[in-house]
Amino acid sequence: MRHRLVSLERIVEGLPQTNKLFLTDSYQRELETSLLKYVPESRKTGYLVTSETIMHPRGGAQPSDSGTIGCDLFTARVKKVLEHSGVVIHYGEILKGSPEPGSQVRMSIDWDARYRVMRLHTAGHIVDYAVLMEVGGGLLSSKAFHGPPESFVEYMGRMQNLSPSELERISNEVVRQARRVYPVWVDRKELQYTVRGAPNVARLPELQTYRIIVIDGVNAIPCGGTHVAETSEVGRIVVKEVRPVESGFRVVYDVLDG
Ligand SMILES: [Zn+2]
Repeated sequence: MRHRLVSLERIVEGLPQTNKLFLTDSYQRELETSLLKYVPESRKTGYLVTSETIMHPRGGAQPSDSGTIGCDLFTARVKKVLEHSGVVIHYGEILKGSPEPGSQVRMSIDWDARYRVMRLHTAGHIVDYAVLMEVGGGLLSSKAFHGPPESFVEYMGRMQNLSPSELERISNEVVRQARRVYPVWVDRKELQYTVRGAPNVARLPELQTYRIIVIDGVNAIPCGGTHVAETSEVGRIVVKEVRPVESGFRVVYDVLDG
């Protein structure tokens, strides 16, 4: 990774936590908001912080969104979105003009890439359900990634004898059932009842409230990511392989149209 010339600490200094609108509405592609801060990195690149955002930063098993931020004064192409101390930072190339803090700006997401990540992320939760159905519980997830170049869910422990085609069959059954996918917020006490058996509960940080993604009648997983509203939007799930990794095994999957 490229060496960062400006510290994230300095960028977020004095700023409030960013309101992440994608947590309540993953489908918002455009936003009018205000630019709180601009920290140039070079003449043509810099970091922009807005009072709210529709762009998902890299992290939480998702790749970064990309898009544009601009107004009459400037246009910035957002290449990477990061989060530091609850502040979402948009790193971009300044294509014209220069960003002025305080100005009203329009933000817009590269929607095709984002929508594909939404399909992949919901598919990841469905594949996790298929794996648990096949193994019969007692499995600990270690990590996951829902985006290019390779989408996967990973589990700890010994490699299981799992058939990709059977995982695929169970997964696509859930897709066909067109089940509703939606977020709910619960506190720590409610958490254990809401997400019984969820793969990542053991490694959750201690928080006031947790956002849970529910796939109706399938599962409920603590998650900060962006999802489609109904499983039918995922398309066809392909389970490409189950392979051993250092800490356990990885289930690699993809989504195809229709
Ligand atoms: Zn998730």
